Amino acid sequence: MRITRRTLLLGAGAGAVSVLLASCTPEPKPTPTPTRTREPEPPPGVPAPAGSIRSTWTTDPFALGAASFTPVGVLADARAALGRPVDDRLFFAGEATDEDAPGTVRGAIASGERVVDELMDAAGSGERVAVIGAGLAGATAAALLADRGLQVTVFEARDRVGGRVFTRSDDSWPVPVQLGAWLFGEDDAEVLDRLRAGDVGTVDLTGSLWRTPDGDIEPVDPVPVTTAIAAAQAAPEDVSVTDALTAAGIDPADPSTAALLDILAARTGAAAGELSSWFAPPLPTGDPAATRDSLVPFVEHALDGVQVGLNSPVARLAYDDTGVSVRLGTGEALSFDRVVVTVPLGVLQDRSIEFDPPLPFANRGAISALGMGAIETVWLRWDEAFWENDEAVWHAVGTDAVIPTWINLRPVTGENVLVGIVGGAAAAEFAELSDDDAFDAALASLTVYV
Ligand SMILES: Cc1cc2nc3c(=O)[nH]c(=O)nc-3n(C[C@H](O)[C@H](O)[C@H](O)COP(=O)(O)OP(=O)(O)OC[C@H]3O[C@@H](n4cnc5c(N)ncnc54)[C@H](O)[C@@H]3O)c2cc1C
Repeated sequence: MRITRRTLLLGAGAGAVSVLLASCTPEPKPTPTPTRTREPEPPPGVPAPAGSIRSTWTTDPFALGAASFTPVGVLADARAALGRPVDDRLFFAGEATDEDAPGTVRGAIASGERVVDELMDAAGSGERVAVIGAGLAGATAAALLADRGLQVTVFEARDRVGGRVFTRSDDSWPVPVQLGAWLFGEDDAEVLDRLRAGDVGTVDLTGSLWRTPDGDIEPVDPVPVTTAIAAAQAAPEDVSVTDALTAAGIDPADPSTAALLDILAARTGAAAGELSSWFAPPLPTGDPAATRDSLVPFVEHALDGVQVGLNSPVARLAYDDTGVSVRLGTGEALSFDRVVVTVPLGVLQDRSIEFDPPLPFANRGAISALGMGAIETVWLRWDEAFWENDEAVWHAVGTDAVIPTWINLRPVTGENVLVGIVGGAAAAEFAELSDDDAFDAALASLTVYV
């Protein structure tokens, strides 16, 4: 990545600490994003792609999943409990702490703004604050705290900023490859405005294709499913989305319904059987917008002027009424007045960071009660397109495709690029596949479009 003044930490004159951070050995290492190791054996009709890249968020030790979701029976106040400050020393942000838009860019940014208000109520002027994680929540919080005159240091485990926003700009690809967030719906107007103001171009992905093994069908009507979920939301007790459908006389295994549940899984990372109907996000409506530029400069810009330590995984946070000691993976420790923790829910659930003393019951209860869902994506490109249609979003209905949803980037970029998206249990299984098996499964998922 571009190394700028924010990247190498703690700056001139802080020699010991600079050396410390520069010498940090990240442990464990993030899973590298795989590229192909052998040519695929494409199924009939689907030619071998000229390039392929996939994500593995489910097994990435600094994510351990893609997006938080609310399991059946868990109340919304679990998110407030997850975000509740501890002794005015530890503060929590990140998409999982946002009640309105968990699992999204919007929720991550909102959580970063919320935590700044909370921290500023407790902080004295010029205090030293550590922010753990340089994703959107951490970048938002760090920038605002620095603006308000605090001395902010960001510790990021990876060798890059952005977290689950991850654009790979590779010369062999004609478009920036987005392995994390890049799609936005009708509730994201403000986020889209911010992206555009930050010189991130967006495009509308227009038109949808619903393909069965027997040919194309009309778009599946989401109204019966949304009505069933709305009815469950009025019930005295929470049930899963699957049970809400069954109660409304809808067979969740019906191919059309299953296709809608695939979309829900790709949005939440959760299977319908584990997802709360009370807190299920609405099925996306309308054409989504997508970023067409790298998101890296957007995150870097937010962190301009803030000290950021890359390759600096935090292993332990010890706190008392005088401050917080931040211990890195190397064993070195630094002292701060307060700390903002923005690591993903999956990392908290894995107990990769030790808290001393342990977090209060309410915070720990929320960490174990909320769910971390799986979403994976695969990008494929060809020199020549093997498909003819110009719809942007493809849905497979009644197939056994591992990857049921594809984005066709040809209409908006002129490049022969298809992006597969899978969520829920299928995504977790996909992440465990070897590169070869994963790309073979992705190509097999495309045979219905030939
Ligand atoms: C495949 C995929 C597709 C998605 N698609 C969309 C989408 O289209 N639209 C949308 O709105 N949202 C989408 N999301 C969700 C969105 O990306 C996230 O909600 C958002 O980026 C989370 O930001 P965050 O700051 O809360 O967490 P993160 O971005 O995960 O930031 C947390 C940071 O903490 C770091 N960290 C972890 N452990 C440690 C440690 N021990 N020490 C120091 N640092 C640590 C991580 O490396 C990371 O940089 C998608 C997510 C995925 C994975």
